[in-house]
Amino acid sequence: MSRWDPWRGCHRCSEGCKYCYIHKGDARRGIDTSNIVRSEKFSRPIEKKKNGEYKMAPGLVYLCFSGDFLLEDADEWRAEAWKIIRERSDCTFLFLTKRIERFMECIPSDWGDGYENVVVCCTIENQDNADRKLSVFQKLPIKHKQITAQPLIEAIDIERYLDGIEAVVVGGESDRNARPLDYAWVLSIREQCIRKKTAFYFRQCGTHFIKDGKKYLLQVKDLCSQARKAGIDYEP
Ligand code: SF4
Repeated sequence: MSRWDPWRGCHRCSEGCKYCYIHKGDARRGIDTSNIVRSEKFSRPIEKKKNGEYKMAPGLVYLCFSGDFLLEDADEWRAEAWKIIRERSDCTFLFLTKRIERFMECIPSDWGDGYENVVVCCTIENQDNADRKLSVFQKLPIKHKQITAQPLIEAIDIERYLDGIEAVVVGGESDRNARPLDYAWVLSIREQCIRKKTAFYFRQCGTHFIKDGKKYLLQVKDLCSQARKAGIDYEP
């Protein structure tokens, strides 16, 4: 898999942004995250070797993991990014967004019912934004849809939004002051996915993790491995 960040930077826009890893990393390096900049490697997916082959291998490409692909500040660059995505039909571009309500103003004119090589992940954190965002998401013309509930900060019921969703990814928050993740919330979403035959992945525990009413303080380095150890992923 590859990663492509045509631009970097973002603005907090949701409850889940509180401990955004990009903001935290930038703060450590003295970078202003709210300054949205076009990447020098904007054309990376279509760069070629001397023999004419693409440098970037075919397969999964994580798109815009240093920001949000639907960010307003990037509107002037997105048409060019879509052109690159269209050209690399041998790659599958996956992006997460907290701005799904902007989707229809951000698509190219030939989008139709979606590009086959684009996966859109709508991210949610609580019941309020799940209802608001997923009711929009379920009506959008997108060939491959996923939901990311990370950081999950309360129990949520999303079963009614799972038709047409290929996968749900769940995870907790990572920070010393993070809001807790209760394992019961994770298991509840898993049950909802199983009933709807939707793939489910438990991606990471939270720094503050609750299981059977008992509170645990986990280290950042262990969050993903602990989730894997739970062994509760589900693929229909
Ligand atoms: S939308 Fe994503 S990248 Fe942007 S501030 Fe929020 S968590 Fe960070």
